[in-house]
Amino acid sequence: MKKIYLDSAASTIIDERVIEAMIQSMKEDFGNPSAIHSFGQESKSKIEMVRKNIAQWLHVNPNEIIFTSCGTESNNLILRSCIENLSIKRIISSPLEHKSVLETIRDLKEKHPEIEVVFLPLKNKKGDLDIAFLEDLLEEKTPTLVSLMHSNNEIGNLTDIDCIAQLCKKHGALFHSDTVQTMAHYPLDFSKTPIDFASCSAHKFHGPKGIGMAFIRKSSGLKGMITGGTQERNLRAGTENVYGIVGLGKSFDYAMQELKERRRIIEDLKQYTIDQLSKNIQGVLFNGHGTDFTKSNYTLLSILLPFPNTLVGFQLDMKGIAVSQGSACASGASKPSKTMLQLYTEEELKNTTTLRISYSHYNTKEEIDVLISFLSEIQKNLTNTIPAENG
Ligand code: PLP
Repeated sequence: MKKIYLDSAASTIIDERVIEAMIQSMKEDFGNPSAIHSFGQESKSKIEMVRKNIAQWLHVNPNEIIFTSCGTESNNLILRSCIENLSIKRIISSPLEHKSVLETIRDLKEKHPEIEVVFLPLKNKKGDLDIAFLEDLLEEKTPTLVSLMHSNNEIGNLTDIDCIAQLCKKHGALFHSDTVQTMAHYPLDFSKTPIDFASCSAHKFHGPKGIGMAFIRKSSGLKGMITGGTQERNLRAGTENVYGIVGLGKSFDYAMQELKERRRIIEDLKQYTIDQLSKNIQGVLFNGHGTDFTKSNYTLLSILLPFPNTLVGFQLDMKGIAVSQGSACASGASKPSKTMLQLYTEEELKNTTTLRISYSHYNTKEEIDVLISFLSEIQKNLTNTIPAENG
């Protein structure tokens, strides 16, 4: 059975070229980057080269790129340090954020009850944030951090981070965006977008797990949270993950160099999925702004199927097809995710299944055909087993 992987928003296949570069680095770069001898300096120079490349892609200063272990750590570092070191008194965020932001905010509020936490209301069932409300809030001159993700990981809605960054700048608020689902999938230019903080994770763009990055604008004055050595411009103590950084650097470079071609392939696959689902699955709904490519991340599509939640993911897995029911973190759960409950009522979600199909440039239309034919089969079997009314 040929397996089909359609869960790249959870994690991606590592690019063979990245594996090669990491193996090479493991052989060569064993010196501690903090050591002054040539072995250490060799490792150090590899790290600095990656830092410089990524800074160029994002149009920022290399000193503003800080390597971490993952997207979760980057979000933690930024949010926690803003409260604990930058005297932020208010966090404005959204109920659609990733757990690594929502749980960190919850924990910060518990530890610092004096901080104000405001979640922006949603304007409609598509999940649009009420930006006018944000602007009203920013009129109050409280030291504020706004934390809004660039792309939602479950439904794919995009936030106009340029507009939010401008608003925050105008009102003197700091702005953090969780860019884990868009970094290296979209060209980002932080010399034009006045954002203060962003996060990134290599395993979302064909790099290794266990390595991430935080963009931290120098002028923000953010401090590190892990105490120890002075690594990473004093912002993240601990011996650097040299091989991981090399892997992050290579996967970032390839993703940016090949962005247009990868995007063309994936957008084509997403549109094909939308067309085929609409044709073959009765009653399918596309969550959030799924069908609008200007407002939705091209790498993922969230759908609501009119089938009972039980076992669809399991049945697909038995056929060797990997998709996600909700997000990776919420998968396996039989209850609707918190994100879906922001868009629909519990009643509306009764007897439905949410699937997130997420793509990479390695996927093909034939794989989409296989997925849709199985979904269609499930729907037919269900229709045949439901007894006719009055019959
Ligand atoms: N933020 C978003 C939007 C994500 O999708 C994820 C991972 O799924 C994370 C943060 C966490 O990233 P990591 O797995 O590197 O900790």
